[in-house]
Amino acid sequence: MCGIFGIANHSDAATLTYLGLYALQHRGQESTGISSSDGERVHTHKSLGHVADVYDEDVLSRLKGSNAIGHTRYSTAGENTEGNAQPIVVNCSYGTVALCHNGNLINAAALRADLEHQGAIFQSTTDTEVILHLLVRSQQASLLDACAESLKQVQGAFSLLLLTKDGMIGVRDPYGFRPLCLGKINGSHVLASESCAFDLINAQYIREIEPGEIVMIKGEEIHSFKILSAPRTAKCVFEHVYFSRPDSMVFGRTVQSSRDRMGRALAKESPVDADLVVPIPDSGVAAAVGYSKESGIPFAMGLIRNHYVGRTFIEPLKAIRNFGVKVKHNPVKELLAGKRVILIDDSLVRGTTTRKIVKMVRAAGAKEVHMRISCPPTISPCFYGVDTPAKKELVASSHTVDEICKNIDADSLAYLSLPELLKAVESKDNEFCTACYTGKYPIEFADAMPDAKESERQLDLWEATLNPVP
Ligand code: AMP
Repeated sequence: MCGIFGIANHSDAATLTYLGLYALQHRGQESTGISSSDGERVHTHKSLGHVADVYDEDVLSRLKGSNAIGHTRYSTAGENTEGNAQPIVVNCSYGTVALCHNGNLINAAALRADLEHQGAIFQSTTDTEVILHLLVRSQQASLLDACAESLKQVQGAFSLLLLTKDGMIGVRDPYGFRPLCLGKINGSHVLASESCAFDLINAQYIREIEPGEIVMIKGEEIHSFKILSAPRTAKCVFEHVYFSRPDSMVFGRTVQSSRDRMGRALAKESPVDADLVVPIPDSGVAAAVGYSKESGIPFAMGLIRNHYVGRTFIEPLKAIRNFGVKVKHNPVKELLAGKRVILIDDSLVRGTTTRKIVKMVRAAGAKEVHMRISCPPTISPCFYGVDTPAKKELVASSHTVDEICKNIDADSLAYLSLPELLKAVESKDNEFCTACYTGKYPIEFADAMPDAKESERQLDLWEATLNPVP
């Protein structure tokens, strides 16, 4: 996953990009970068770390020019290293070109092997760099045509921003896996993964970039081309379930409303007699509000999340049990004690976090704990840009709902059904990718299906509790 933001024809391009990236921080916390252009040159600053830490006034003042693009990275291909931070910048016959990518290419390895065989030297381990190698090798007269030619060779998910010395290009893959939307602030066009980035800079939301559309922006002008085509669209339903911010418009719909409908539908499909509806914050909040409104059972913030937890922390050797979960979530005992609680979360992936949270809620005195998940069981990994683990680590790929319920030690467990999820996101004409819930991938894999990242340690933990050593 990643967040991308770009603006053309604005005197504060780099600063507005910095603010846009601030709003898109949730889409990637590993590294960030901005490239700007001033009509002659492209200037770039990128580093590992969060937006708040990577830029200061001095850095932004060096990112000169009226055009800028930026990126927040969460790796799904290639390691988390400084060399893999984006934008990636190249000098080629089309001038200096900077590129930002949100998505994941499924034929990058084969294309890379082929390009390396022909003598290409890669500077990073990202799938994104493949696009630039194809681009610089193109014999087309214009950058736009070179883009179209290269992008016809790559398969998978790609929302892209390209910056040149005097303008910007935005692209959305023909399946439309990842979002990209267009906004305007006075005479300047803005492109962003999610519309929450527009709100922060007072830009007006105009529309989504269509699947397969390429937009070229120079000065005040924008030109649109429909060059890439696919047999269907495959917008990622997980953007609405979990990934995007609830205050964003994604795929032309408000995420908050989708999640509210998911919660309401879950209450209708899987009701339970209880005293409180409690979300696992922040991911479960919007659906829990919907569940509470539909069921009439009071909503309570019975778990509090610490927002200042980084991705890693120093763990005290076994000294504090369940430290990893406790550092992020803490129960409000006064609310939970003696209550029959419905816990709501957006998804259950490995089950390890959920199990610890159920235990924590029981320890806080809850009489019953009923788990409700606002999407269907996750049975297959994502190859289009969401960081899901390998299939064997997805607990629902090999266990029934009853088995999972037993393992997380809940009194009951229910998931939202796929038809109700599709209704909640107002899906029309099979427009969404639901491969994580069905295993049916919208693009055929040319070779054997690759496997997503694995974490044997997590699997061991799961297996150990499922089959406890006597
Ligand atoms: P677990 O019980 O270990 O499966 O963890 C479930 C939690 O992981 C839920 O709160 C989800 O919101 C969260 N989650 C789901 N998918 C992802 C993802 N791709 N990256 C990070 N967290 C996720």
